[in-house]
Amino acid sequence: MMRPVDLASQADQLAAGDTTSVALTERSLAAIDALQPTLNAFISIDREGALTAAAAADERRTAGRPLSALDGVPIAHKDIFCTAGLKTSCGSRMLDTFVPPYNATVVDRFAAAGLVTVGKTNMDEFAMGSSNETSFYGDVMNPWDTTRSPGGSSGGSAAAVAAGIVAGATGTDTGGSIRQPAALCGITGVKPTYGRASRYGMIAFASSLDQAGTLTRTAKDAALLLELLCGFDPKDSTSLDVPMESWTADIDKPLDGLRIGVAEAFYDDGLASGCRDALEVALDEYRQLGATVSTVELPHLYLSVPTYYVVAPAECSSNLSRFDGIRFGHRATDCDDLAELYTRSRSEGFGDEVKRRIMTGTYVLSSGYYDAYYLKAQRARQLISADFKAAFATVDVIAGPTAPTPAFGLGDKVDDPVTMYLNDIYTIGANLAGLPALSLPMGVVDGLPVGMQLIGPALSEARLLNAAHGFQSATDWHHATPPLFQGGEQ
Ligand code: GLN
Repeated sequence: MMRPVDLASQADQLAAGDTTSVALTERSLAAIDALQPTLNAFISIDREGALTAAAAADERRTAGRPLSALDGVPIAHKDIFCTAGLKTSCGSRMLDTFVPPYNATVVDRFAAAGLVTVGKTNMDEFAMGSSNETSFYGDVMNPWDTTRSPGGSSGGSAAAVAAGIVAGATGTDTGGSIRQPAALCGITGVKPTYGRASRYGMIAFASSLDQAGTLTRTAKDAALLLELLCGFDPKDSTSLDVPMESWTADIDKPLDGLRIGVAEAFYDDGLASGCRDALEVALDEYRQLGATVSTVELPHLYLSVPTYYVVAPAECSSNLSRFDGIRFGHRATDCDDLAELYTRSRSEGFGDEVKRRIMTGTYVLSSGYYDAYYLKAQRARQLISADFKAAFATVDVIAGPTAPTPAFGLGDKVDDPVTMYLNDIYTIGANLAGLPALSLPMGVVDGLPVGMQLIGPALSEARLLNAAHGFQSATDWHHATPPLFQGGEQ
């Protein structure tokens, strides 16, 4: 089987003169057109902007100007990142007509590096969801089985990469929204340390948890893309002002001596046996690569889902108050007074899941309940962070499953929010503690891909990417391609 194209090979082909940015971009746009009816992975397509940027990239190359490692390569942005002049909906009716006057820093950084944006990917409304079913623009279908969910909230980005439409896309991860869809679509998803990537121009969901990252086929591609995406930004007050070391330089380092921790807490009743078995095989692979595997305790991890579902709604209820039909967002027509305008604009603009979160958030922050819920959740968050800190005294990375099951059917969980929330049971801890984490393909169960999660201490991205790349150098799971959608093959 031919291998789908990855970012590194596209960059090599461009450097060798075997292709042009315009050719790669045209192929990507054609793949969107061909697969949009089946996958619905995109909300907006920027045909003209992409082809103009691609032509400029080709000109730069011909003129011998300095180029970034990925200059001219097509990518897609999750529709949560503001793009000047290009609709940014955040998956919501509320922002269906919003065309930002400025770029998110992440978008600017990619543009400055010469990457070509072909379009904006579909996502759960305001990034709230684990299945992409809360999008105002309809479900995204999983390329491995179009009756199943690609995961969420970055499901459009994950489906686009898995189907070979683009080799890389951005995502955001507040509780697992990069890692879980990466796992369900059989690709690699990385959430960096909180503060590594700028949140400027990234529409806020829960500001103390939100972090931008990447969805790519390989860890090597993730490293290439993240080197361009991450870095200090004075426009984001929580941006980390730390030196950016290279994440590609040592990616080939042998894994001898890598200390992997496995937590009992990840082996709960909800974990499908296929995922458990695949994880055991993957850990054996790591042992053969020279890693040691030992047990670590994360005694408070069981608190992560309830803690998250207090903290995230609390922050979102505050962040989303700006969408009132006056300052931002959909405005209801024919209202008699201001109160009716607010009520109807928000009632019409937001979908059910977003309303549920705003109501929960407002409740837990209300004066009589603040101590009982919000404060208690902040305390639990501290305990979870302390558990990770203690565990990282003895291991370099913590490995486990990314999601409890392979991709579930569209419609299966949508009426049961708690079951849906439990899909993030393994990913949320890293967000609460601000830690870098990634998901990489570790097997195929009943024809569907499953992912392994690696979590590291703060700022350990180089080590995490090295650990993921080492595994991918010895295995082939990241090359597994959905049988029906090989649009990116060459
Ligand atoms: N699925 C989780 C939620 O619904 C996480 C979402 C995310 O990471 N943006 O909130």
